[in-house]
Amino acid sequence: KLSVSGLTKKFATLDVLSSVSVDVGRGEFISIVGPSGCGKTTFLRIVGGLEHATSGTAALDGKTITGPGMDRGFVFQQDNLLPWRTIESNVNIGLEINNRLDRAQKERTAKLLNLVGLRGFADYYPRQLSGGMRQRVNLARALAVDPELLLMDEPFSALDAQTREIMQTELLRIWEAGAKTVLFVTHQIDEAVYLSDRVFVFARRPGRINEIVEIDLPRPRPLSIKRTPQFAK
Ligand code: ATP
Repeated sequence: KLSVSGLTKKFATLDVLSSVSVDVGRGEFISIVGPSGCGKTTFLRIVGGLEHATSGTAALDGKTITGPGMDRGFVFQQDNLLPWRTIESNVNIGLEINNRLDRAQKERTAKLLNLVGLRGFADYYPRQLSGGMRQRVNLARALAVDPELLLMDEPFSALDAQTREIMQTELLRIWEAGAKTVLFVTHQIDEAVYLSDRVFVFARRPGRINEIVEIDLPRPRPLSIKRTPQFAK
């Protein structure tokens, strides 16, 4: 369980977050929406331990978050794979940093690549993969540390509509199988409704959660995009 209490963030004179308090249950899928600059990324970075709060706390399963940790995995919007490393070595970077690489890892990585639909790509390099495939690698890398909490910052916004739709469905499949808690920042309301149990609507300024929308729809949900075949013979 993630407990956020009175989280406030100031950058010099700029109030970015103002006393955000919220609880997220284990296994919940939460989307975060709100206008540009309302502090969504800052909120995610503080929970991820990449940024310090000015005041207030975030705790995961009772442990106060003070820095990055293996209980959290991050997927960013931009592709930040290391171009000189293979896909396998990119996926394992978090384990490597934490000295958790062992001989059995090769097999686990192969399974993970299989899970994200990249079977057989372990020895490829990022430049040999499309944008959608690279985002799958980013997801595998975040999952490699077997995190409790998956933090995703507009992970699909750079993808074309069709790839995005496929990735959304696959993310739900992975989420259902792995029982991870997910915080998912997006600008797209339809994506938030399609994916999540609850949507946190941030307002500015300073940023705070203005509204929490419960999405009471059974899964699997109807896809938001209907395809009409244009080239049928
Ligand atoms: P977007 O939807 O455009 O990604 P956001 O809701 O994620 O925006 P943040 O990226 O969290 O918003 O930024 C919130 C505010 O804090 C913005 O005004 C931004 O300029 C400011 N900000 C973020 N990081 C810093 C920093 N390191 N130093 C100073 N100001 C910052």
